Parts: sequence; structure tokens; C-alpha cells
Amino acid sequence: MSQKVVIIGAGPAGLLLAQYLLRRGKYRVEIYERRSDLRLADGSPDRTFPISLQERGRKAIREIVGLEEAIASKSAFCNGTKIYRQQGKARQIPRAIPILTIDRNRLVAILLQHLTQAYTSEQLTVKFSCQCVEMDGRAKTVTLKPEQGEAFTLAYDRLVAADGARSCVRDQLVRDAGLQCEQNYVPDAYKSVFLPRANPALGLELEPDKIHAWNRDNKTRMMMVPQPIDRLNGVIIFDAQHNPLSNLSTKEEVLAFFQENFPLFGQLMSEAEAEDFLQRPVGRVLTVRCDRFHDGDSVLLIGDAAHAVSPSIGQGCNASLEDVLVFERLLVRYEDDWALALPAFSQQRVPEAHALKELSDYSFPRTKLLVVEFFLRLTISRLLHRWFPQWVKPFVFDLLLDRDLSYSQVLSLSQGWINKVKRSILSEG
Ligand SMILES: Cc1cc2nc3c(=O)[nH]c(=O)nc-3n(C[C@H](O)[C@H](O)[C@H](O)COP(=O)(O)OP(=O)(O)OC[C@H]3O[C@@H](n4cnc5c(N)ncnc54)[C@H](O)[C@@H]3O)c2cc1C
Repeated sequence: MSQKVVIIGAGPAGLLLAQYLLRRGKYRVEIYERRSDLRLADGSPDRTFPISLQERGRKAIREIVGLEEAIASKSAFCNGTKIYRQQGKARQIPRAIPILTIDRNRLVAILLQHLTQAYTSEQLTVKFSCQCVEMDGRAKTVTLKPEQGEAFTLAYDRLVAADGARSCVRDQLVRDAGLQCEQNYVPDAYKSVFLPRANPALGLELEPDKIHAWNRDNKTRMMMVPQPIDRLNGVIIFDAQHNPLSNLSTKEEVLAFFQENFPLFGQLMSEAEAEDFLQRPVGRVLTVRCDRFHDGDSVLLIGDAAHAVSPSIGQGCNASLEDVLVFERLLVRYEDDWALALPAFSQQRVPEAHALKELSDYSFPRTKLLVVEFFLRLTISRLLHRWFPQWVKPFVFDLLLDRDLSYSQVLSLSQGWINKVKRSILSEG
């Protein structure tokens, strides 16, 4: 008889895990998602952002026939980053292997589409606008509250918390099951920005195969990533304690702000986008560090619910997708015995997640001097590594691209630099 797996959260981790479980032919899957169906959404989304997927995440996607191709067809491939400055020429940081970037909501829509097309309603149900509000690990039940209607409780055989950094299931395990979990906000906040890639009236066009970044001195920066149909999606990132946007209250002020601080992007911004920008919420990123990713023989924490990290090195989604691959391998090894697979998952992934958190917190420096050193080290190590690969190892960002190195190995090879950045950040207070 097939087991009933309830997955909370239809983000990248929950949706890919559903694919992996269903293809095993031993499970029925029910997914409950707080938000509405992204495939039906119109207009400009509030809080989406580009996600870079590297080999770590892509190898997990590749296992599902046709999925990587579907994602690639809606992605942009960037062969480098162009960093603009107030004065002087833009600096280019090339990439040997182009990086796939895709809007987060578009990625989710493709995963959903692929999943719902592959399985029948007997095997899979997905309910939107339905939020998990409680779980009872002893009774093996969850309580869900639809946007409209009464809350209801349902039983599960296995429960997967794929409900992101602010996971309700995880909070409940902290309260009821002694899960140790540290949560912290990263100092930065962000707001989504959507622009056209060109302004023909000004003869301005940004390259379609570069990530476009603009770092200002005061920790305020923008990163805009090309999308299909000549758009740029991205974010403005700033110190949450000194929000430079807090005084903007009209679209004219928004346009003036971007034209003064990020002139290139300001010239691409329309009045309609300036108006929408005002209404968008400011996002804060919560990091999560847990001592285990399971409870008993039936509850699994996966993706950001288990290990949300700062987006500074673009690994959160890659690690979440990699979780799915690792968990499936364990199901195969233990012949779908979750009592064995769950603790093995914690044992394998917790040290990796802790290493990833350290790398995400401290790879990229926050002081001007160390930022200069960072780019120098990156450039020099690339040159020297090409000539003397046996003696000079790649710098931390390039090590992360090596799919054969675990996060713990990358951390151990980069410990000197990580310690330096950590000391500088901690001494800043
Ligand atoms: C600005 C920014 C840039 C990023 N860039 C990158 C990048 O370049 N590369 C990269 O690898 N990662 C990146 N990340 C991280 C990446 O977005 C996450 O790691 C990834 O989305 C995690 O996937 P997930 O499925 O675990 O969680 P989520 O994507 O958070 O999905 C969780 C889902 O659960 C739903 N949910 C939450 N609570 C409930 C509830 N109680 N009941 C029901 N449903 C619920 C949510 O609505 C959501 O749909 C970035 C993050 C940010 C903020």
C-alpha cells in the first residue's frame, strides 16, 4: 500500500521532492502551499528575484526527464558579471562556464507544471492558498487553514517541511520536540526591481549575457539579471538599519533616486515601474541553523526550512535541490525505510549546511578595503591557477562551482579568507 506524504510548501525543494517521491511509485503526495498558484498570477510579482543555478542544483533537476531543458528554455545564461561604478569604466568578471539564471517564481511555475502534468490526481494533489498552522508529531496530523473556509486537520504517514526559512513545522518541532535552531536576520534587506533591458530612445542597451551589478560605497547595491523577452529582474540591496528608500513616497522621487544613485538602471526605469516599486514590500532574509533535519521516523526538514542562508554567494536554492537528490539516494539505500533514511540524512547534510552557512556569511566582505582584496584575489588566483593548477587553488567563489567538492571541503580550503572576513565583520559589530 502506498504511503501518504504531506509536503508543506510548494517552493523549489518541495516540488522537486514530490517528483522524486512519485517516480518511486510507493507514495501518494499531497502538497499544501500558503500562496496562490503562481501559474495563474498576472502583473508584476511582489517578491521574486533571480536565482543562479549551478551544477549542484542542476544535477538534481537533470534526473527528472525533460525538466532541465524546460528550465533552461526560460533562463538566461550569463558568462560574466559587469560591475558598474559612479566614475570610470565598468569592471568585467568573466566566467569560464556560463551560469544559468532564472526568476524564482518562473522556476516554481515550471516545476509545478512539470509535476502536475506527469501525475494523476490519485497520485498527487496540490492545494494553494492553504497554510499549515499547526502539526502534531505524536498524532501524525497537520492543521491547515485555507484562505477561505474553515481550518481542517489531516493525517499523514510522512510529513515534509519544505515551507521555507520561516517554517511553521520547524517552529513546532522547536517547541514540542527539542529541535535546536538558531535564527538570525542578515544585516541586508532587499526590494525587487524589474526593468527593460534597453531604452531605445536613449540608445541604451545592456548586454543579455551578463549579470549587471552596481556597488555603491554605503552598502547599497543593485544586481540585475537578464531574463528572456528582454527584461532585467533583480534587487536593490541595502543595510536594513539605514534604509535609503524609506523617504521615497512618490514615483518622481523613486526615479530621481535611481537616476542619481544608479544612473544606468535609472535610465531604464519607467514611471509605471517606479510606481510599482513604491508598493513592493522590503524583504528580509532569515538564516537558519538546526542541529538535525528530521524528527522520529516521519518528519523531514528540507531546503530553506532546514538551512536558510544569506543569498550573498547564491547557494541556497542549489543546496535545497541537492538535498532532494541526497534524500532520494538514502531512500534507495534503505529501501524506503524512513526510520533509517531520516537520521542518515541529518548526519550527512547537517555538517554541509553548517559549512554553507559559514561560507554564505563570510565569503563576501563588507568593508571597502576587503572588497578590493576580494577582487584582486579572485583575479590573481584565476590567472595563477590556470598556469600552476597543482600549486594554486581557485578562490572561494570558483571552488563553489566545483560540483565534486562538498561545502565542508570548500570551507576547509578557504578557511584563511573566511576567518579574515569574519574578524572584520565581527569587529564592525
Ligand atoms: C534576494 C535573493 C536572492 C537569491 N539568489 C539565489 C541564487 O542566486 N542562487 C541560489 O541557489 N539561491 C538563491 N536564493 C535562495 C533561494 O531563493 C532559496 O534558497 C530557495 O528558494 C529555497 O527553496 P525552498 O523550496 O526551500 O523554500 P522557498 O523558496 O522559501 O519555498 C517555501 C514555500 O513554502 C510556502 N510556505 C511557507 N510557509 C508555509 C505554510 N505555513 N504553509 C504552507 N506553505 C508555506 C511559501 O509560500 C513558499 O512557496 C536567493 C534568495 C534571495 C532572498
